[in-house]
Amino acid sequence: SMRLWGRATAARRRMLCLWLLLLGFALVTLALSDLFNRDKSQSHQNPGPPRRPLQRFSSPMDLEVIVDSRDPALELGVDLAPLKSLQEDQLLFVPSTQGTKSPPQKKGSYKVLLPGANKDITAPAPPTHGEMGKAVQLHLEGSEKEAELAAVLKYGFNEVVSERISQHRRLPETRHPGCLGEQYSESLPSASVVICFHDEAWSTLLRTVHSVLDTAPKQHLQEVLLVDDLSQHGHLKTVLSEYVSHLDRVRLIRSTKRLGVGGCRTLGAARAAGEVLVFMDSHCECQKGWLEPLLERVAQDRTKVVSPIMDVIDWQTFQYNATQWPVRGVFDWRLDFHWELNLPLQDKDPDSAVQPLRTPALGGGVVAIDRHFFQSVGAYDPGMLLWGAEQIELSIRVWSCGGSMEVVPCSRVAHLDHHHLPYVFPDQELLQRNKIRIADTWMDAYRKIFYRRDTLSESPNITERLRLKRSLGCRNFHWYLTAVYPQLYIPQDRPALSGELYNVGAGSCADYPRGQGPQGGPMNIAPCSGTGSQVTMTTDSSQMISFTLSGQLVHQHSQLCLEAVMEGGTGGLFLRACTHHPRQQWHFEQLVAPKGA
Ligand code: UDP
Ligand code: MN
Repeated sequence: SMRLWGRATAARRRMLCLWLLLLGFALVTLALSDLFNRDKSQSHQNPGPPRRPLQRFSSPMDLEVIVDSRDPALELGVDLAPLKSLQEDQLLFVPSTQGTKSPPQKKGSYKVLLPGANKDITAPAPPTHGEMGKAVQLHLEGSEKEAELAAVLKYGFNEVVSERISQHRRLPETRHPGCLGEQYSESLPSASVVICFHDEAWSTLLRTVHSVLDTAPKQHLQEVLLVDDLSQHGHLKTVLSEYVSHLDRVRLIRSTKRLGVGGCRTLGAARAAGEVLVFMDSHCECQKGWLEPLLERVAQDRTKVVSPIMDVIDWQTFQYNATQWPVRGVFDWRLDFHWELNLPLQDKDPDSAVQPLRTPALGGGVVAIDRHFFQSVGAYDPGMLLWGAEQIELSIRVWSCGGSMEVVPCSRVAHLDHHHLPYVFPDQELLQRNKIRIADTWMDAYRKIFYRRDTLSESPNITERLRLKRSLGCRNFHWYLTAVYPQLYIPQDRPALSGELYNVGAGSCADYPRGQGPQGGPMNIAPCSGTGSQVTMTTDSSQMISFTLSGQLVHQHSQLCLEAVMEGGTGGLFLRACTHHPRQQWHFEQLVAPKGA
């Protein structure tokens, strides 16, 4: 048995040698193929962030450079009035080595910053599992699932799944067939796609960049401008600079001050050379043909601000979900933005599926705007900090100050909807401050409706913005509510009267349709409930309607009378020429005096 054992060991040893040889051979082959294919593989694989900075970083043009903040030539505002607040101090700038049209940097005014000098600052600790675990509805098991949970905690979406998806994935065709035959002018304006990011994941950021490069026609794409808003994650430093330097038309700008969404976009805009700015979130995927219809619309009217239909990428599965048309952007009195779906289709017009739709507001995901119009209308409000509501501010301002907004249905871009935003999660105070700024700057007396829903009271410094508003001759919020967003219900929180409003002719009471409160929809006629709470007359409505001694309710403005019109068992309320018909005679019953009124 000893000899047998010995023979077995020798065989094993031989096998081991063979394996080692094979392994060595494989390694050499790999190294060689990497050397030859590096450039090719760069753009056609899903590389993930290289773990170490690559060493092929030699030409001085490749170095990150830092702006000398004392150079007066770099002060913005020369051709960018009314933008004075933007200081580009300590701006880092990385030019692309690939042929771009004269990148607008002045060599003499940059100081060289060695890649190593820019030390990583450790990222703040992510929220603990306990804190977020409750909110994150994941059913996770095993170590793979743990990695996914960690990714969700870090980014607010499942980055592990994202990494497995190609950076060149094609979205399924979801455009309306009527869009596919559209012809666009050869002479569309050029676009600068400005992508701001703060601690974006590698996979989502690069998929965004590649998706723009893969879909935007070269003749219309001036550049992709990546603007790093003081990211801390290691993969967004030298590794990214290196990666980007190999991409055609892509430039990288770094800010060493945290600017927030609006400030970062304003910085990108100041550096952009294209005629039209396309602000895009750092986690988007473009549908084929998305750019042309946007550019065409802006070219037709330079004061038009447009957005594609925003499709949705699921934060857990990264599945692509097409958004149904028609859709438009709106906000509520909390100044929270949302997309409004299931709008009634416009008159069954066969063209409505391809026609742009006026919208009271646009989301921040993708917005296209003429570069000069953007500057003249006041860029983004530099007083809006970090994140939140900046798109509402822009929307109200664009409409009020001479522009307009549209959703363009033949353009589609998918946006990754986060489960939570890592930088907003801990406290909402900055967001609240931004909203107060909007209310104080743009909403006139209507801001009281917002303030009823808000607790933080502190006056922001909006002097500059009010000056801008005056100099542009912007209209007031009442105009906006009437002309642009008449559907926004204006709540009246102080009831003047409430009780039963009995109609003599109908023998029934005025009431709200089932399921509807006093805040919306027309009233109807229904049996009296006897509870004394069927009708609420608000301060506002009692100013509009007067009650005559003969029991008529007269609408002040039109001098018409409120009449109960019965059809079958139910009835409605209409304004008709005043008569003495019993259906125009009303009695208030069981009046309840409101508290404090
Ligand atoms: N962003 C930024 N600086 C910040 C916060 C956000 O540059 O301080 C970027 C962010 O990376 C993203 C865009 O601004 O590309 C919009 O932010 P986000 O996607 O988090 O907002 P949401 O789409 O959820 O409203
Ligand atoms: Mn986003």
